Amino acid sequence: MNSTGSSGGSDSVSGGSASEAVTVPTGEPLAEIGVIGGSGFYAFLDDVTEITVDTPYGPPSDALFLGEVAGRRVAFLPRHGRGHHLTPARINYRANLWALRSVGVRQVLGPCAVGGLRPEYGPGTLLVPDQLVDRTRSRVGTYFDGETRPDGQRSRVVHVSLADPYCPAGRRVALDAARGRDWDAVDGGTMCVIEGPRFSTRAESRWHAAQGWSVVGMTGHPEAALARELELCYTSLALVTDLDAGAEAGEGVSHAEVLEVFGRNVGRLRDVLFDVVGRLPERRDCLCASALAGQDPGIALP
Ligand SMILES: [Zn+2]
Repeated sequence: MNSTGSSGGSDSVSGGSASEAVTVPTGEPLAEIGVIGGSGFYAFLDDVTEITVDTPYGPPSDALFLGEVAGRRVAFLPRHGRGHHLTPARINYRANLWALRSVGVRQVLGPCAVGGLRPEYGPGTLLVPDQLVDRTRSRVGTYFDGETRPDGQRSRVVHVSLADPYCPAGRRVALDAARGRDWDAVDGGTMCVIEGPRFSTRAESRWHAAQGWSVVGMTGHPEAALARELELCYTSLALVTDLDAGAEAGEGVSHAEVLEVFGRNVGRLRDVLFDVVGRLPERRDCLCASALAGQDPGIALP
């Protein structure tokens, strides 16, 4: 773990009501694996503890929901907040990943709904991408911008490698877990991330497909990039909910269609996710863990 720079102090973590706020000492992990997705993934766990975490970047999308899956401690974070009130562009991605790391998370799973850009990637396809293309416009995509934070700490300007944006170990486990549930997940492909919240025009969609990209989503960036900056492993599990406008002949994507397909597959995706949690390595040998090696970001990672 990289802990260069001045001592960062601990982030405020509180359980129960705000008046009972307790500060969790650094080095006492509450979770090891993070899942950024909807409430459908943890709503059926028997024992879930809700905690609020503040960060130097503001509050995350929602509270963290701590639970145990397959003997591993997991922190669940609803990406769009409860009730889905945050658009993809308004999600505080920096706060989300910082909050997860501050409770001890080192490996992150990012399930998301995407549109298929090829006719063979119809609704219900699960794809574990190995590349992404950023087509967003208005999101803060780095912690290392050289700016001074409200707490007075100032980052340096640091450039991390994102040549391979996803954790190779996490990808392998995700593919194995899906196949173990008779879901023949697509191994690799490029996720194009658009600004949203609107869906693509047919022309945009055909252009995305013509580039050879596989699926289109709205949240995969900067989630993956920020995870890498915090030396977190990040694995995307992309559930195709619709064929994108350029890949189908009908009326184009509707939000109702996306919700319907996601609802039909959420139980299956949860089963796969929980299997992934149980199989993720306890010790990390991947390069994600040393993304900042030899570089001083100027701020202490939580
Ligand atoms: Zn990794």
